[in-house]
Amino acid sequence: MIYTCDNCNSTFAADMRPYSCPDCGKEFINRRFDRKIKLMDAVRPATKEEISMYEVAQKELKFEDSLPALRDRMTVDEYNWSMIIHFEHQPDDLNVRPLFAEYIASLRLDPDRAAEHYRTIRRMFTKHLNDDRAALKAAGVSEPVSKPEGDLPDIFGPALRLLYRFKDDRNNPGSPAALPNLGSVRRINLEKIAREPSAAYTQFMMDWEESFS
Ligand SMILES: [Zn+2]
Repeated sequence: MIYTCDNCNSTFAADMRPYSCPDCGKEFINRRFDRKIKLMDAVRPATKEEISMYEVAQKELKFEDSLPALRDRMTVDEYNWSMIIHFEHQPDDLNVRPLFAEYIASLRLDPDRAAEHYRTIRRMFTKHLNDDRAALKAAGVSEPVSKPEGDLPDIFGPALRLLYRFKDDRNNPGSPAALPNLGSVRRINLEKIAREPSAAYTQFMMDWEESFS
């Protein structure tokens, strides 16, 4: 069964209702009934809404876990592209949801249409990159002169930080001086990804789709 703790709002699965919350350890909580305060169990069966939120979160977790293994088997282009796709897809954003829904539907049925959507998504990412760069410039910060070891600091916008996590550009494999730029995005061969995807990429797309359904 699925339970929720009224102290910390954690929702979790358990065979039986535990005496105390596994996350915060609370056993009892004060709850108001009409005008009286009553001491009640902190952990109670989850509501329908809480259960569906829990299931969505579990699916996403499963998907995140499967990513590294799949990505290692993709081509460099597919690897970088899968990060862009995941980045641009915001399930809560009503403006982009229809685009991605149509894109996912066309993946198996209509590769021409899917390739078209790929180009739209690439434009979205390019725009986010340009926005991040403009913000950086306005803040008077310049981009690194060599590829940094870890993540860039938060002053670099999320699209820019993602770009720096790209696998090496195929024209400069392994070159530490090869800084990612708009060309790294432009050079991704979207036609090839749309029409001749590797097995790992196809699996990624299926898992990815599953994580939202
Ligand atoms: Zn708790």
